[in-house]
Amino acid sequence: RSFSSSASSSRKLDGKVAVITGAASGIGEATAKEFVRNGAKVILADIQDDLGRAVAGELGADAASYTHCDVTVEADVAAAVDLAVARHGRLDVVYSNAGIAGGAPPATLAALDLDDYDRVMAVNARSMVACLKHAARVMAPRRAGCILCTASSTAVLGNIGPLAYSMSKAAVVGMVQTTVARQLARDGVRVNTISPHAIPTAMALGIIAETFPAATAEEVRRMVTREMQELEGASLEVEDVARAAVFLASDEAKFITGHNLVVDGGFTVG
Ligand code: NAD
Repeated sequence: RSFSSSASSSRKLDGKVAVITGAASGIGEATAKEFVRNGAKVILADIQDDLGRAVAGELGADAASYTHCDVTVEADVAAAVDLAVARHGRLDVVYSNAGIAGGAPPATLAALDLDDYDRVMAVNARSMVACLKHAARVMAPRRAGCILCTASSTAVLGNIGPLAYSMSKAAVVGMVQTTVARQLARDGVRVNTISPHAIPTAMALGIIAETFPAATAEEVRRMVTREMQELEGASLEVEDVARAAVFLASDEAKFITGHNLVVDGGFTVG
């Protein structure tokens, strides 16, 4: 297997308008850049306003704009969706990607802090229900549109990832399957999850640093990337997820819905 990547030169998202949550950093930032490179106009939604504005600024005012959007607040999600329509006259893609790891993972179920669980579920799962609901509000009447959600390899395997985090990601996969089967396939709206394995973004580095407070920054980075490097001598990068998102958002994927696309170099199949 070869894991070398070369970005396609063709523009797969020409004319499309997208909202991406968690776009100030990591996977969301890389995806915003890859979407714009592929011809899309993007609304970057996040709570890190300075970072988000900087990324949008880099992409240029014609292609990208930033809006403050706390995904745990339904009105913020609704406003981000409406902003895309107001600014660009249409909405083709909503990528519900914002997420948090939660506090340091408890060693046992008995030590699970249910307040932490509630917070993780609110940011990682409830928020994605809000994105789905408001994206569908705009897309279903047009009988077109694509919704993406970032789940995780932790939704597929039970023995990796913090408890609350892994449960929240499994909820996202279940949410997509259920809503596609019960409504959205009939509405002509595609919904898919993307499940990356560990990538050294701020979120992943933060959770390892909290779990191993004595580790140096370099040790933390190595812990996040180790599994991939041992597997193939290559590291999974945010751009690998961004390219998967471009494919799913493009018309090339027009018959793909209800799918969980695992981006992990084979990790979850052993
Ligand atoms: P990241 O920390 O770089 O990015 C997450 C972004 O989400 C940040 O910009 C943050 O400000 C934003 N965010 C957090 N809470 C928010 C809120 N309430 N409202 C709006 N935005 C909010 O981390 P990342 O790794 O790029 O994470 C993106 C997604 O990928 C998350 O859903 C994460 O669970 C998932 N994921 C990450 C990994 C990994 O190893 N990095 C693996 C699998 C899945």
